[in-house]
Amino acid sequence: MKKIVVFDLDGTVVDNGHRYIYHFVDMRKYLSLADKDETFEAMGQICKWYLNRTDVITVFLTARMEIERKSTLAYIRRDLKHDFPDNRLYMKPNNLTEEKMDTPRWKLQTLLKLVKGDKNRIMCVFEDRSDIVDLMRSVGIVVIQP
Ligand SMILES: [Mg+2]
Repeated sequence: MKKIVVFDLDGTVVDNGHRYIYHFVDMRKYLSLADKDETFEAMGQICKWYLNRTDVITVFLTARMEIERKSTLAYIRRDLKHDFPDNRLYMKPNNLTEEKMDTPRWKLQTLLKLVKGDKNRIMCVFEDRSDIVDLMRSVGIVVIQP
């Protein structure tokens, strides 16, 4: 069975820092600026390299909510892989905002569900957020933090 490689988006592959100030104050504006996001050069190249491999399955696991699916897929297909499939992008349900939930736990649970509990299927996770990195490492997952 193919192994899974997991990429976070914001802060890992995507530089969305220019609009982050609007995230908690003006969600409409925050979303409207998504097409101005840029890709971090080094991580973008690593990510593309994995996306083009056929012997592993590369997925995105992001704390962005489903409301951002369309713009997020547009970004991935524009900057990383033009035919990236919709079903390899894992996003938070719209009602689960950062204040309402534990994002590190949600990410870990979603990932374990994806591999049906078999951690050996996870090759590695690329993730920038230290609390997520720590939680995943605590259960033996290899995490690369840019
Ligand atoms: Mg991040």
